[in-house]
Amino acid sequence: MAAAEALKQPGPRPGGDPAAGEATPRCPACGAALRDLARPRLLRCPRCGLCRRRPVQGRRDREELILHHREVDPHARVAQAKAVFYERALDTLGEAFPRRPRRLLDVGCGWGDFLERAMRRGWGASGVEILPEAVAAARRRLPGAQLHLGPLGAIPLSAGEVQAVTFWDVLDHVEDPATELAAAHSLLDRGGMVGIRIRNASVQLWLRRADRLVGALRRRPPRKRLHVLHRFAFTPAALLRLLARSGFEKIRIENAPLTAGDPYGHSLRVPPLPLLKAVGASAAGLLFAASGGKLLLSPSLLAWARKP
Ligand SMILES: [Zn+2]
Repeated sequence: MAAAEALKQPGPRPGGDPAAGEATPRCPACGAALRDLARPRLLRCPRCGLCRRRPVQGRRDREELILHHREVDPHARVAQAKAVFYERALDTLGEAFPRRPRRLLDVGCGWGDFLERAMRRGWGASGVEILPEAVAAARRRLPGAQLHLGPLGAIPLSAGEVQAVTFWDVLDHVEDPATELAAAHSLLDRGGMVGIRIRNASVQLWLRRADRLVGALRRRPPRKRLHVLHRFAFTPAALLRLLARSGFEKIRIENAPLTAGDPYGHSLRVPPLPLLKAVGASAAGLLFAASGGKLLLSPSLLAWARKP
């Protein structure tokens, strides 16, 4: 996918909340006016396909995110399910930055599972997280790490201080993804790398249709939905545009390795979820290779990009 093409389009208004409180909500990735998808609480960008849920009236963004962490995300099980992904990501980062000292910042570091693995491989570790109990637990677990409670913008790091910034399943929750990436860009050293794992809107919208079909056939909604749409959902095109506009280059977007097992407790019996995932991942891998890297059909995307 060509980054140069993405750069030709006009950019969004910098700094502003792209959806909340504006008469015409704008896409944070490409600046186009978002359109109502004619279904409750979902807006879509006609140019890059980004989706944005309408905010819940009267509830502040951060409150909603903290509620999500506490009620939806079984962190220990999910972290364990992402072990293979974390190790592969550290392989990539280790190849890019073989020399020490090197420092990595994990945004939305949670209970410190990824940072713990990074420290074992000789990375200096910094983390930022908005959930107080997660930061407290991570501090007890990782006394050698720099851990900060609050948003990325408040982190006491200097410009150019880190070699890598990671956003693992975080960027679709934040108030303004463009602001987060601008902050990451500023903190990175020249040649530094950003890594993003995020849900793939193209696939999640199909899973949403499948959930609706199952609901219609059973005449009640599925107990656990297969699709996940957070505040934002990025298509590969939207992620490419956002990274290019944020000043990154050498952008690489691929299918993200799936989480292992069934950490969210979907409990599908026929077919079993791990089997469904294995078949889906193989099919997505084949289509990615056959299309020369154009077709990305995994439920989550993995992006790597460099600061020039
Ligand atoms: Zn867009």
